[in-house]
Amino acid sequence: MPRVINFGAGPSALPDSVLHEAALGLLDFNGTGIGIAEISHRSQEFAAFLDEVESLIRTQLDVPSTHSILFTQGGGTGQFSAVVLNLLARHRLLHPNLADDEPVMDYVLTGAWSRRASDEARRLGGGRVHVAADARLHSRNFDHIPTHDQYEFSPNPALIYYCDNETVDGVQFSADPASPASFPFHLLPQGGLLPLVGDHSSSFMSRPIPRLADHAVVYAGAQKNIGPAGLTILIVRKDCLVDVDAAAKLGAFPVPLTMSYKSMAGSSSMLNTPSIFPIYVSGLVLRRMQELGGVQHYEQFNKRKAEKLYAAIHEGEEKGLLKARVQEGSRSLMNVVFDVLSDEAKFIAGAEAKGMKAIKGHRSVGGIRVSLYNAVTEEQVDAMVAYIREFIET
Ligand code: PMP
Repeated sequence: MPRVINFGAGPSALPDSVLHEAALGLLDFNGTGIGIAEISHRSQEFAAFLDEVESLIRTQLDVPSTHSILFTQGGGTGQFSAVVLNLLARHRLLHPNLADDEPVMDYVLTGAWSRRASDEARRLGGGRVHVAADARLHSRNFDHIPTHDQYEFSPNPALIYYCDNETVDGVQFSADPASPASFPFHLLPQGGLLPLVGDHSSSFMSRPIPRLADHAVVYAGAQKNIGPAGLTILIVRKDCLVDVDAAAKLGAFPVPLTMSYKSMAGSSSMLNTPSIFPIYVSGLVLRRMQELGGVQHYEQFNKRKAEKLYAAIHEGEEKGLLKARVQEGSRSLMNVVFDVLSDEAKFIAGAEAKGMKAIKGHRSVGGIRVSLYNAVTEEQVDAMVAYIREFIET
């Protein structure tokens, strides 16, 4: 069976060359005669590989020395919980005498994933969530990034949370600070280090991260742009590596060891057995990315791909056959969502007949979703564009 074009939203396409290399690594990792799924995580060879993966991320994203890079498991969903527990502990240590109804956690709601994260914060944090902005207040659906006048942050929150790219809804913050759909960094509370948390799961390594140094935590599951599921990458500012046990003595919630950023960092992400194979494949992808020009290259590449696809959808809109779901300016470069106004089943079947798979929208919202992660080539996007044109002509 030849490989098809995989427009899946995650797990998603990985570069063929990396998959071939990884297959060889399963038999023999770096000339050790032991396969990567068999070798000890404490071996010198694996430790050296993990160091290289860290430096590939640090170099390409320009991660400052104020921040640690951690490799963990539990996915984005695990981080919905971990950020709350660690940053509430940090806040407790900074303000030991806070009243019980403090502190507040600020959430910016732009789609299904930030909403899920806020639900978890409400569950774990005793309901103390303040919605700093909610795109649904200005539109029926999550179809745009709020404009800057629609945010209201708390004066001293324990954390401020946003999701850079909403994988289900196809909404993404703009990386251009002049855009009304950029994240409103200038509105955040002044003074002290910001407790800013960004879920970058579905845009990680697809472009530089705006104002990375101002973040307390950036996290991403690997299974979109860089590797298999099972690896979660964290960039954590060092003041957020807090003693969670000391915080618990002051009344903060206890934190499981595998979720404590300080214990993860203190053991160089080797508190327990890390996800060796996903780390390996991600490392191979990151090496390839660096050779091709890093995130600056991918930003241009991903913009070109998305522009082509949105242009084809626009042609379909003019014919009354397609409809983009997201307002202009807030459209994701990674997940392009639209509706087929005529016959959706026919559209999907026609794409599949041409070897283009996994374009059905998320089960909660329906429609079409074409994901354009780093490993999706321009030729593959051209094939989808040609198919859309054919579909709207006939
Ligand atoms: N955040 C975003 C933006 C996501 O796309 C996803 C998964 N698709 C998650 C969080 C949850 O990640 P996981 O399934 O790895 O827990």
